[in-house]
Amino acid sequence: MSGSGGTAVVVGSGPNGLAAAFVLARAGVDVTVVEAADTVGGGVRSSDLLRTGLLHDVCSAVHPLAQVSPLLRDPSIGPELERGGLRFATAPVDMVHVLSSSRSATLHTSASETGAGLPGQDGLVWRLSFGTLSSRADAVADEILGPLVHLPRHPLVLAGFGAGAVLPASWSWRRWRSAEARALFAGIAAHAFTPLHLPASSAAGTLLAVAGHRHGWPVAVGGSQRIADALVTGIRRGGGSVVTGTRVTDLAQVRDADLVLLDTSVEVAAGILGDRLPARVARSWSRFRRGPAVAKVDYVLDGDVPWSSPDARRAGTVHLGGTAEDIAAAERECWDGNLPDRPFTLVAQQYLADPSRSRTVNGRRLNPLWAYAHVPAGWDGSAREAFELVTSQIERAAPGFRDTVVDWCASPPSVMEQHNPNYTGGDISGGANDLRQLVARPGLHPYDTGVPGVYLCSSSAAPGGGVHFMCGVQAARRALTVL
Ligand SMILES: Cc1cc2nc3c(=O)[nH]c(=O)nc-3n(C[C@H](O)[C@H](O)[C@H](O)COP(=O)(O)OP(=O)(O)OC[C@H]3O[C@@H](n4cnc5c(N)ncnc54)[C@H](O)[C@@H]3O)c2cc1C
Repeated sequence: MSGSGGTAVVVGSGPNGLAAAFVLARAGVDVTVVEAADTVGGGVRSSDLLRTGLLHDVCSAVHPLAQVSPLLRDPSIGPELERGGLRFATAPVDMVHVLSSSRSATLHTSASETGAGLPGQDGLVWRLSFGTLSSRADAVADEILGPLVHLPRHPLVLAGFGAGAVLPASWSWRRWRSAEARALFAGIAAHAFTPLHLPASSAAGTLLAVAGHRHGWPVAVGGSQRIADALVTGIRRGGGSVVTGTRVTDLAQVRDADLVLLDTSVEVAAGILGDRLPARVARSWSRFRRGPAVAKVDYVLDGDVPWSSPDARRAGTVHLGGTAEDIAAAERECWDGNLPDRPFTLVAQQYLADPSRSRTVNGRRLNPLWAYAHVPAGWDGSAREAFELVTSQIERAAPGFRDTVVDWCASPPSVMEQHNPNYTGGDISGGANDLRQLVARPGLHPYDTGVPGVYLCSSSAAPGGGVHFMCGVQAARRALTVL
């Protein structure tokens, strides 16, 4: 043992694994991160996927949850990560939801500005719904980004958030009368991949709206990889190390360490722990439910997307999926295992926030574009089918889009899972976000595996998917209690 506080191995270098290692290293633990892939970062990797010199975010692209995360807001940590190269930037418009070729709704960082763009009384209702809560967004994040069953530090804020969040999204959107406001909220809620008629399907939408109205929906300048790189710099500064290209398949490979933290899905964790997993935990994990999947496409474009909506031409994120009812129907189809005709599709134009992502080659302005559609878990479409699915959704909102595509690369669920074994069946959230798994994820003691010294620190644990680091931070804090 060379560290002052014992040794730890973190298996997996996604944002949660790196955050866990970062917290452990700062606590004086001698920590090693072991990553199966050749590069660090898991869901925050970026690479020149199409070998054109353009940087593509391989997984996550837009980071409202990172900015509101207690980890980055910690005054002793945020500035350190900034010195490690982490900076966020927002596009002129945060997000546009396209309902049809002539109708859209726009999300701005300011709740008032967002409200001002909505028809009739809906603007006032939007401001009343999110204005006050977003001024307390940091307190909301303190309460929500951890196990849901806990003693609240901000009970009134939690009550204010919970009152809306527990509702099905399809009830929540009835507070607005216009198709625009309803679709704007439904699209944000759909980030959770949960059918919008289910209880608590408003939770993700409320959190993302509130976080967005506080910090915007930014991208990491220089690519999402910068998030991983800044954390790795901090881990190394704390005396830790990172090993890539090494897959852990059995606990025996890392058992010499005092602590083992698994930044893996419950399925991968169960494989690594094998018979050591107590029967009660194995039973609880076997009931863990996965969510629908994604089919992702990365494009190189000659110029910009010819969106019909002028606001979409300035937006960091564009949601495609029609009205709230259309999105609800498509999300339900995915949940039930059927491919919708017009799946909910998210598009990110990071280069509008971060011009360093674009290149001029032979007089042509080349821009990277990132998009994915929600598809059923395990959808067996080919790369070409994934490309057609996502491209036709964009083409409907941006006639002529196909003509701008210089190159593309598509990842249907099988390819997602090949890239990262945590994405079981193409589910990128670490597991379904239904009510049971919001309350107990993957069980009532989220980070404990029942194997002494071994903890789960991935998005399969509370509070779940998204780049907010808090599964890792909470698991590391839990692990430190036994050292
Ligand atoms: C296409 C896509 C788009 C997304 N968009 C966004 C977004 O815009 N904003 C947002 O907030 N979130 C987004 N997400 C979700 C976000 O990326 C994840 O929720 C987050 O990365 C989860 O972090 P994690 O650390 O739990 O796991 P991961 O990021 O999945 O990292 C796990 C790491 O562990 C490694 N690993 C697994 N098994 C082993 C093993 N046996 N041995 C060694 N290493 C192993 C994997 O290779 C991987 O590097 C997106 C995800 C995807 C895939």
